[in-house]
Amino acid sequence: MAAELGDDWCDVTADRAEDCDLDHLALAAELSTEVHPAHPFFGTALEVIAHRLTNDDVLCRHRATPSRYSILHLTWSHREEIGGCPTIDADGEWRHIIAYENAVDAALSGAALSGEGRKPEQGPTGQPREEAPRRPS
Ligand SMILES: [Zn+2]
Repeated sequence: MAAELGDDWCDVTADRAEDCDLDHLALAAELSTEVHPAHPFFGTALEVIAHRLTNDDVLCRHRATPSRYSILHLTWSHREEIGGCPTIDADGEWRHIIAYENAVDAALSGAALSGEGRKPEQGPTGQPREEAPRRPS
């Protein structure tokens, strides 16, 4: 199932990925440590099913509602968090998670494209464009 998410996710229910050196047991432990009494998921039984290799996102399944999934961003503070942390990046049925992932991928590739080969803004003569002088009003 996690294969649908893309290459940057490591399925913790499968054999250890070669490019992952994380202790998968530590994921669930850290999650339960960080979720504090004011957090929306406090008291919610979450099963970590995958984690992102490129950052600290974990994908969880709700034990009480098996059709519901959530992506949370762990802080790895090793203590009870406060406020909105750990952040809930996505929450819903599987198709919502996939849609979220696709949106993230699109945003990332869009940023990579627009960031590539960008030059300082230049005027038609190749000189840096100057702002038109303003008249005092
Ligand atoms: Zn892993």
